[in-house]
Amino acid sequence: MNENSLHRDPADGLVLRLVRQAGSHTRASLGAATGWARSTVTRRVDGLLESGLLTLGEEATSTGGRRPEQFRFNQRAGSLVVGDLGATHSRLALVDLSGDPLVTPTDLELDMTAGPEVAFPVIRDAIEALTGAADSPPLAIGLGLPAPIAATSGDPVDPSILSAWDGYPLAKTVESEFGVATYVENDVNQMAVGEQRRHWPQAHSLVFVKIGTGIGAGIVIGGRLYRGAQGAAGDIGHTQLEEFAERLCQCGRHGCLEAVAGGGALAAQISALGRKAADARAVAALVRSGDSEAKSMIRSAGTRIGTVLATVVNMVNPEVIVLGGDLGVEPLLLSSVRAELQSRPLALASRYLVVEPSRLGSDAGIVGAAELVVDRLWPSLEATHQVVDSLT
Ligand SMILES: [Zn+2]
Repeated sequence: MNENSLHRDPADGLVLRLVRQAGSHTRASLGAATGWARSTVTRRVDGLLESGLLTLGEEATSTGGRRPEQFRFNQRAGSLVVGDLGATHSRLALVDLSGDPLVTPTDLELDMTAGPEVAFPVIRDAIEALTGAADSPPLAIGLGLPAPIAATSGDPVDPSILSAWDGYPLAKTVESEFGVATYVENDVNQMAVGEQRRHWPQAHSLVFVKIGTGIGAGIVIGGRLYRGAQGAAGDIGHTQLEEFAERLCQCGRHGCLEAVAGGGALAAQISALGRKAADARAVAALVRSGDSEAKSMIRSAGTRIGTVLATVVNMVNPEVIVLGGDLGVEPLLLSSVRAELQSRPLALASRYLVVEPSRLGSDAGIVGAAELVVDRLWPSLEATHQVVDSLT
């Protein structure tokens, strides 16, 4: 793909978004979806075919006559380096434009809490190795962090787990190091988008809850990520629970959900009993081994998380809640969250609510990062008829 295909025309962005969403389109169906004249559709499609971003797909079946050509998004038109950087475990990958890995992803046992001076060189080396494995330079880099990301600067701001990264210009540092456009996103936002686009494309609204070291949520409304005014939407881990007012949280406040039900808190509680559990993953391993204390802890954690989610359900009325992260995918925690949500006479908002474990698992962040980076590389117009005049 050549440089010209990165000219970021929002009308091209709209065509790409429609084709990515639907899987394929014809000229006629694109005309119907956009309200554009046939000549406008043809001009846009021809340009995108020429740049390699669209490719001819299978022919549509029609009754007699010439079959209309089908267009698909060419996910192999370029590569991206994406990462899901967690407090204790990180995954980086060289992927195509749909988030499918092109080489085996790199998993790092990296202590991000040690701060950028310690962790950044490791991340940089991993990106360098993945970049070197690409046939041509990656089009962009997208990294997710467990921190709110300021909308204005794109830097992590006020992170409770990664306090040493507060205000660190990660995107600018990576960009200057590799000369490639770099975007930093909240890790759970990436997961929410990955799960929604890949497995729940028909769901208008979805809340993804990551339960790992901490607890956070990503919110998709109307098929779009909702970040909030300061990039802090979905930060449910710091919801105060009055009955745990004595429990100190990593954020410095007391009684936060995360300090009661997060994987870091559960690991500390197990360690306090004289047992060994270094992190959320170790807690999950204990639960799976049938450890009765760990099982009882994760059940109560599910109840606390369900209590907070009940408020989210009333506010957002999502179609789907997806639980992810090392502890979120544990069946015991899932059933406990479900039971708590169903125990409440919430009526309408919870009646049709689906609560499911993440299907992408540890790939959710990688897939979502690729989707969000492609959204940013080719921003899209809204599919409204009012814009037609400016395009023809
Ligand atoms: Zn807190």
